[in-house]
Amino acid sequence: MTERIFNFGAGPAVLPEPVLEEAQRDLMALPGVGMSVLEISHRSKAFDEIIQGCEADIRRLANISPDYQVLFLQGGASLQFSMVPMNLMPSGGKADYIVTGSWSKKAVKEAQKAGTVQISATTEADNFTRIPQQSELKLDPAAAYLHLTSNETIHGVEWKREPEAGPVPLVCDASSDIFSRPIDVSKYALIYAGAQKNLGPSGVTLVILRNDLLERVPKNLPAMLDYKVQAENKSLYNTPPVFGVYIMRLVMKWLLDQGGLEAVGRANSEKARLLYDALESSGGYYRPHAKPDSRSNMNVTFRLPSEDLEKKFVSEAKAAKLDGLKGHRSVGGIRASLYNAFPKAGVEALVSFLKEFARKNR
Ligand code: PMP
Repeated sequence: MTERIFNFGAGPAVLPEPVLEEAQRDLMALPGVGMSVLEISHRSKAFDEIIQGCEADIRRLANISPDYQVLFLQGGASLQFSMVPMNLMPSGGKADYIVTGSWSKKAVKEAQKAGTVQISATTEADNFTRIPQQSELKLDPAAAYLHLTSNETIHGVEWKREPEAGPVPLVCDASSDIFSRPIDVSKYALIYAGAQKNLGPSGVTLVILRNDLLERVPKNLPAMLDYKVQAENKSLYNTPPVFGVYIMRLVMKWLLDQGGLEAVGRANSEKARLLYDALESSGGYYRPHAKPDSRSNMNVTFRLPSEDLEKKFVSEAKAAKLDGLKGHRSVGGIRASLYNAFPKAGVEALVSFLKEFARKNR
């Protein structure tokens, strides 16, 4: 087998090895089917078992009640930036958005094309280093919904608990921390996530939405963009992203085998703590971007004393088989993404690497 290295990339990101192995084993022929998942009809019994099994495991993992739909859509989380307002904001309506980084800004930009966006809070003046306090939120009880981004993949800030939205439906872009810890789905009206960080490959987007929201969907939306059409057709209005759903099915099984979201959450906190502790004990050589109470367990972002040292850090790390550490081009610095499938051994390897790097490059 070709050697694997530690992949700190932000997404598409590392997948669990047992998932890759099973997919590889079954790529020529699914057991009992004699054809690969890439070659069978999405309306076949074999695929039906895959998509139904995936949904059942998602429901079990996050304890999702029958009051919610579980949909497998396309167009990435980016299309949800548009679908959410198109489906949930009534004509002439308004929605509240909390802005905590680049991704929530993008969500706002798309929503503005569909209706009136009110900014409940923004931490842009603090360079997106923190999550706002509940007391900072300006909430409109007449808003169609309140939108937040549970984890900002680029800036590395993460909500530790959901904001209180009162009677206003809460909508969450959970693309980069979904199923990284226990989640109380009943607090949300809609949760969406592109799969390519914690759930599977790119090309499939998970949408969990409360049934009553379907009553709001306006008539005459293009069918593909209409949650009601997608729900009535159980994500099979057209050909779904079959390979993405198949891999997601394997990832869900793997998460259940790990002991579910409690166990995965504990492991993720432990991995992130190891890395933040190492940064904090570097005597100021490494400077975490996010304020302590807002730090992401998924994307650890930090700076070095200079951009030249950051470049050197990234290239020497790559040579040491620690890949994908360059921060997003919009903010620079270093970003280590530690999604569910990222092993603790990789964090330990990075910690020894960064200690040695600081010692040699003071
Ligand atoms: N939201 C967040 C928080 C993200 O991290 C990303 C992708 N990195 C997106 C939205 C956009 O996702 P996609 O590329 O699937 O459209």
